[in-house]
Amino acid sequence: MGRGNGEPSGGRPIPVSGNGAGSGAAAPPRKSLNTPGFRATVPGVNFVLQRGELRDIAAKVADNVRLTEDDALHLFATRDLPALGLLADLANRRRNGTRASYILNRYINYSNYCILSCQFCAFSRKKRDADGFELDAAQIVAKAREALALGITELHIVGGLHPSLPFSYYTGFLRALRALDPRLQLKCFTAIEVLHLAWLAKKTVPETLAELRDAGLASLTGGGAEIFRKEVRSRIAKGKESAAEYLDVHRQWHRLGGKSTCTMLFGHVESQADRVDHLRQLRALQDETGGFTGFIPLPYQPENNAIPVEHPPTGQDLLRTIAVSRLYLDNFDHLTAYWVGMGLRMAQLALSHGADDIHGTIVEEHIFHMAGAHSPQLQAEHDLVRAIRDAGRVPVQRDTFYRPIRVWDDTPTDAAPPEAGGDASRDRIAETESAVATLPAR
Ligand code: SF4
Repeated sequence: MGRGNGEPSGGRPIPVSGNGAGSGAAAPPRKSLNTPGFRATVPGVNFVLQRGELRDIAAKVADNVRLTEDDALHLFATRDLPALGLLADLANRRRNGTRASYILNRYINYSNYCILSCQFCAFSRKKRDADGFELDAAQIVAKAREALALGITELHIVGGLHPSLPFSYYTGFLRALRALDPRLQLKCFTAIEVLHLAWLAKKTVPETLAELRDAGLASLTGGGAEIFRKEVRSRIAKGKESAAEYLDVHRQWHRLGGKSTCTMLFGHVESQADRVDHLRQLRALQDETGGFTGFIPLPYQPENNAIPVEHPPTGQDLLRTIAVSRLYLDNFDHLTAYWVGMGLRMAQLALSHGADDIHGTIVEEHIFHMAGAHSPQLQAEHDLVRAIRDAGRVPVQRDTFYRPIRVWDDTPTDAAPPEAGGDASRDRIAETESAVATLPAR
């Protein structure tokens, strides 16, 4: 779905053939760390791994032996982050080659009214709150129309559990967006929203999902997974759906032929064992359905909420969690380093610790920023391309399902990266930023 977006200079687009969901990249032949070919390619790497604390796990990864929960705990505890990162990077390269992706997308929150009050949430409001908002279908379409000028291929739409909007509101805006541009991929709703809509519509979850799909839903979002362990969940998101319910919504969607992403909110009150338990349950569902396109670990943002966390995730913890996830989730093709939560510089570093994607332009983000994220509200395409290229990877613009739309050669044709002032896409994004500044501020 190529569009006339502002093309980053400094590289040649490579024609893309095929759109296989999988890695989307032309992955090189798989090589074991133990094969002569691999040794010849990266002998120094093998030396580091074979002499280090992680040698037994490295051997398992090399031989494609699935890691156990104990292995994952060992990786979380290791002091040898360089070796862990190296191993995760090798596992990623084996699956995705040297490519790393981004997406041209726009976030839209249709409302922040919510009947729940998850303790970690800084986004939700009650009807009595002055800074609550809800958008009607025309306002949502207007935001989408603005963003189409940026060349976006995806709208990412979520909101709170609204107390009174009818089910027809949701199918209505999906249909209106599909009418605006049928090529737009609509990635919408968390699992808890789907349960809420099923309750509103008095339908089963499969019936609800089928109606949403027929109205235009392309993919579920992965939000709302938080941490699956019940004791932690009740401390950070009391009243929210259980882990089993979250997983079952995704299972039902996958059975309908749908795809989705999944997440893990980490760095609050959970233990490393809780993280491993969370990853275990995601890996099991992926074994069952194969319906997850990617995994997105979300670092906790500690401001403006009811959970006192003295030590939110450090850079080490971010990279470690990315790396362990890549190694343990051996049935996931893609792992996204979410720049909104960790900043673009850390996301760039994550590309050498197992991540193969840095998410998208986004344009307008509320949920993380209301919780204290200090990252910008948006990224221009050329900044994403430059971050990927500077990390030594080949930038790939992808669609919602991580399928390549445009591949940028890793051999620059221009001496300098795209100039901010000269890039039309940035100019258009800046215009959009001022347009969205009219939203109610916290
Ligand atoms: S996290 Fe979602 S469900 Fe929980 S209070 Fe916030 S908006 Fe509502």
